Amino acid sequence: MKTVIMAGGKGTRIASVASDIPKPMIPLCGKPILEYQIGCLKRNHLTDIIMIVGHLGHIIKEHFGDGSNFGCAISYYTETEPLGTAGALYKIKESLSDDFLLIHGDIIFDIDFSRFINFHCTRKGLTPAWATLAVHPNSHPYDSALLVTDADNRVIQWLNKEDTRRYYKNQVNAGLHILSKAMLSAVTPLSEKVDLDRDILKPLLAAGNIYAYPSPEYIKDMGTPDRYAQVSADIENGMVSRRNLSVKQRAVFLDRDGTINKLNGFITKPEAFKLIDGAAEAIRKINNAGYLAIVITNQPVIARGEASLEELDLIHRKMETELGKAGAYVDDIFFCPHHPDKGFPGERPEYKIDCECRKPKPGMIFQAAKKYNINLAQSYMVGDDGRDVEAGLAAGCTPVRLNNTGLAGFVETVFEEKRKADG
Ligand SMILES: [Zn+2]
Repeated sequence: MKTVIMAGGKGTRIASVASDIPKPMIPLCGKPILEYQIGCLKRNHLTDIIMIVGHLGHIIKEHFGDGSNFGCAISYYTETEPLGTAGALYKIKESLSDDFLLIHGDIIFDIDFSRFINFHCTRKGLTPAWATLAVHPNSHPYDSALLVTDADNRVIQWLNKEDTRRYYKNQVNAGLHILSKAMLSAVTPLSEKVDLDRDILKPLLAAGNIYAYPSPEYIKDMGTPDRYAQVSADIENGMVSRRNLSVKQRAVFLDRDGTINKLNGFITKPEAFKLIDGAAEAIRKINNAGYLAIVITNQPVIARGEASLEELDLIHRKMETELGKAGAYVDDIFFCPHHPDKGFPGERPEYKIDCECRKPKPGMIFQAAKKYNINLAQSYMVGDDGRDVEAGLAAGCTPVRLNNTGLAGFVETVFEEKRKADG
């Protein structure tokens, strides 16, 4: 698979850090952004690279040459006029592979590309996937464009910042794409300058074969000087490489009711869902510590017929929206819809089973561990109930039963102390 790196941007917003070099050449801990990108691609055996250069492109060409000093083969396409985020793809179409990676030149990432590519290649809609966009939760979803997906991860809606949106999943386009030549052929651009999102992806959503690949791995753009400082720190403390899913992850598994949100009977409507004071702040600290934050919750309201899967989804979108306002996010949500006791009016018999996922059983934790390559011995299961403790113990995590200081108390006393002790 070929990789196209869009390395032509001017980088005006970050001019306070460096202005006489192209944005993708801005050094981080002594190495340009592009070198980190190429390093990660090479570790994933993606060594056939085309760079789209423009403004100050000669600096990039002089640094990387034909790529042989960096263990890969690099060719270049030089834009004499800026062609937008996709115009150049039409110029080099003949040299692309059927599916190819498209990467913005101003992001730092360290991801397991084999997972990403495998996800793309196994999407089987009416036609094979035209495009798969890597998405992730971020700490400012309220001012980011969000992708809405269906249960098969198909993108069904593209919500811009200006669009009205009430409760939404924290799912932001991360700037890494797998695209197909077939998709390029499906669109006839009106001019040489083409915007990937506006002119290609958004108009093609209705066709139903554009997908989102959710990943908790490290992917950050260098849009502002603030983020530049944060990313430099993350490179130095090892956070960038540690989040790669080929490496064993650490997680804090979080019960939901009574841990993240206030106990309020069975919650069947979003209006009844209210965050516990301090919970969002605590989750933000878990995010910043590089642990996955994964919700593990029993939701027998489904089996009891008191809420539909759609209503539960809406409740979870409210949770993500409220957490996002505080700069916090969860990496995934696992819920058990089952309940073992039959014979109540209105129940849904298909969910009335003695399953393997309902806590105190550890099934959901095992599912999460498999999905995200988690080292359970280095992870926590946190909740307000004895069943959380039992599930955590059965999974081999450190179980934590919350006392009256709640999640905030756990983060302050247990989690941060342990983290400091570990270095
Ligand atoms: Zn279950």
